[in-house]
Amino acid sequence: MSTQRQNPAGGPEAPPVQKEQSMVLQKEMIADHYARLERAHEEGNKAVYTFVPGNLNELVLCFDNLLPVHPEINALQNAMRKRSGQMVLEAEKLGHSEDVCTYVKADIGMLRAGNMSPAGTRLPDPDLLLLSYTGCFTFMKWFELLREEYNAPVAMLHTPYQGDGHVSDAMRAYMVRQLKEEVIPKLEQTSGQKFDIDRLRELLARSRRAEDDLVAVLESARNTPSPIDAYFGAVYYIGPIFSAFRGTEGAERYYAALRAEVEQRVAAGQGPITPEGPLEEERFRLVVEGPPNWTSFREFWKMFHDEGAVVVASSYAKVGGLYDRGFRHDPDNPLESLADYCFGCYTNINLPGRVALLSDYVREYNADGFLINSIKSCNSFSAGQLLILREVEQRTGVTGGFIESDLVDPRYFSSANIKNRLESYFQMLSQKKRGAA
Ligand code: SF4
Repeated sequence: MSTQRQNPAGGPEAPPVQKEQSMVLQKEMIADHYARLERAHEEGNKAVYTFVPGNLNELVLCFDNLLPVHPEINALQNAMRKRSGQMVLEAEKLGHSEDVCTYVKADIGMLRAGNMSPAGTRLPDPDLLLLSYTGCFTFMKWFELLREEYNAPVAMLHTPYQGDGHVSDAMRAYMVRQLKEEVIPKLEQTSGQKFDIDRLRELLARSRRAEDDLVAVLESARNTPSPIDAYFGAVYYIGPIFSAFRGTEGAERYYAALRAEVEQRVAAGQGPITPEGPLEEERFRLVVEGPPNWTSFREFWKMFHDEGAVVVASSYAKVGGLYDRGFRHDPDNPLESLADYCFGCYTNINLPGRVALLSDYVREYNADGFLINSIKSCNSFSAGQLLILREVEQRTGVTGGFIESDLVDPRYFSSANIKNRLESYFQMLSQKKRGAA
């Protein structure tokens, strides 16, 4: 474990942040990626902007001069560094309304300020906008804005919504046809290289091994105490696999190291490492629905830590794929498995599917409570959440809680209000536990 001083707002120094070794490894991978992006065009490489859910990382990496850029990651990293507020305001001055997803506004604000990455390096303009559409309409409007801004070509992959909860052969064939006729030709055109399906198989085999390790890490939360926090901590655990690193040797190494760390904690009967230090006593086990707030991420996490609350499963950790429900990238069926991956992204799953998944998590992970963090500007998650709350409570018998915040707009993180609500919620859980004892 290592520590570092954090002074995000230029004020007095915060207490040291405690980090797992795998987090240090991940930090190096991210810094290296931003450095490569800064040099991309001078070294003859090309930038492919694409989104986290439904990302086709292995396909992009088949072409060794293509580098992926993920706008949502830039937005959330800027928020964690307390820079997104100004970017959101910039975008609103340009006419983007208060209701627009704040990831989009942070991205627009960032590019207007010179397209400097959260690492302080310059991002290359996109050579291709790879729009993998997995259920969130905002993705389409976002890339329309970037297409206007950069005049860059677009490759679109349309994933049919799992409206009735099933993926048919016709839906899969439709996706494979788009990959063959639209996506791969545009990647070939952008890179000037020929697509090699054997290279794709190699990368998918690596992904698969890393995915096995990730699932072992997520499922370790079935232990009591849970050795991980599957919401706040999981943000770091899903980082490499949901972004630029799936299919790389670096990601494979990262997940092997992470799994070993977590297995050590299970063997020692230890709880998760949090920025405030190891959690000594697990008082509440929660399932959480909805993305976290990024602008006050550490403060938000601390509110749970101070109450001895550990998140044992979350929907956010599945935003880029439901690996824990059995999906793996498959080198023997490369294009079909890329299609299946896109179908399974959380935003592409209908409400009954989300309710069933969350109810199963409550039972499988032996949770005491179910909490929703409803994000003001993310309709893809927030629509239907009150119905989800009622249904999960009814099906599992656990007490539900509801708080509201936003992704990267600091105006919508009301610290006192959220703390109050959480304290009342934990009191309720505590009374219920006492009553059951
Ligand atoms: S899923 Fe939510 S946060 Fe992501 S782009 Fe869509 S609206 Fe924004």
